[in-house]
Amino acid sequence: MQRVTILGATGSIGVSTLDVLARHPEQYEVHALSAHGRVDELAAQCRRFRPARAVVGSPDAAARLAGMIADLPTEVSWGEQALCEIAASRDTDTVMAAIVGAAGLAPTLAAARAGKKVLLANKEALVMSGQLFMDAVREHKATLLPIDSEHNAIFQSLPAHYARAPEAAGVAKILLTASGGPFLKRAVETLEQVTPEEACKHPNWSMGRKISVDSATMMNKGLEVIEAHWLFGAPADLIEVVIHPQSVIHSMVSYVDGSVLAQLGNPDMRTPIAHALAFPERIASGVAQLDLTAMAALEFHAPDFRRFPCLALAFDALRAGGTAPALLNAANEVAVEAFLDRRIGFRDIDRVVQRVMNEVQHGAASSIEAVLEQDAQARSAAGRIVDGLART
Ligand code: NAD
Ligand code: MG
Repeated sequence: MQRVTILGATGSIGVSTLDVLARHPEQYEVHALSAHGRVDELAAQCRRFRPARAVVGSPDAAARLAGMIADLPTEVSWGEQALCEIAASRDTDTVMAAIVGAAGLAPTLAAARAGKKVLLANKEALVMSGQLFMDAVREHKATLLPIDSEHNAIFQSLPAHYARAPEAAGVAKILLTASGGPFLKRAVETLEQVTPEEACKHPNWSMGRKISVDSATMMNKGLEVIEAHWLFGAPADLIEVVIHPQSVIHSMVSYVDGSVLAQLGNPDMRTPIAHALAFPERIASGVAQLDLTAMAALEFHAPDFRRFPCLALAFDALRAGGTAPALLNAANEVAVEAFLDRRIGFRDIDRVVQRVMNEVQHGAASSIEAVLEQDAQARSAAGRIVDGLART
């Protein structure tokens, strides 16, 4: 019996994870669930999965949840400390890290430091503190399995005992596929007018709002390039982004002998979730088998960095190193939130990120404190820039 904690249980990944777990009650048991504000959903999940603990974002939310599930044995608490506890608990083997954004960093790191099997959906944690996070994984003998569909596909396409050394494994390129999002073909001049509703309407995947906007700007792919760098020990030049609008091939690895290995499937996150949960075995995920004969032609082309400046900014941040990716991530989180609140336009997102990268000097990512300090600096600079843009 594998005991599982889900950080961010009410989100898109959290719900898909519970869907897979529910198909295999003899193999998996839910130890703890967390949500930020969606107490009603979390209460329903607690009723169904009966976790030992449930964690929410505020004392008010905790009081509401406790009232709703008073008849259950579930212990209710709130806040970051409690998230770290359920991530590191002796009573859990596996932690699904599916909180969105920098808020996921502390509990995800706590799971790594406790040597857990960490299923990593929260790419922002790795982008912010890649070296420190990977060091913690190694030092505490945690097992890190990628949930992001591209990284899960790359993981599946690499040799079984890949040791984060691409050259030794004969890897020539990591080919990260990207759908290109909803604005792949829209006239570039009209991107200024994009609304949050349009940006959140992804052609192939159903996801949370923040990652949906990131997919529309392709910052998501940029964050994934940085994520791939840390997960697979690959320098920026070894990672290539390929636009593939059908999202059937979830990424590929190209080897020095000319072989290209890929993982294919329907675009449904339950596949990588089931893969990581059961690894190295396989379990059913509820995802339909891919019908190759019913498939449209598969297209591939190079990304246009002028249409998607955020992708170029992410490559720049990776090459700059240190805390530059943490600055990029923090500026992007602030800008996306302002865009979703209709305070700034769609194209202002890349402007805010660019200006923060220019204005805030990055440094060494020597400790989590140093990273969080830079994260705070970038957020305050981004907030100021957003206020300026919102006034004009
Ligand atoms: P979502 O917005 O649907 O869900 C986010 C979850 O995090 C919710 O449970 C929410 O309650 C919780 N949360 C939000 N803010 C929080 C805070 N400040 N403190 C604690 N908890 C908080 O997001 P999602 O689409 O499920 O994405 C989750 C993570 O997985 C992201 O990092 C995203 O990049 C990554 N990811 C998602 C997908 C996908 O298909 N949705 C694919 C690949 C990677
Ligand atoms: Mg992805």
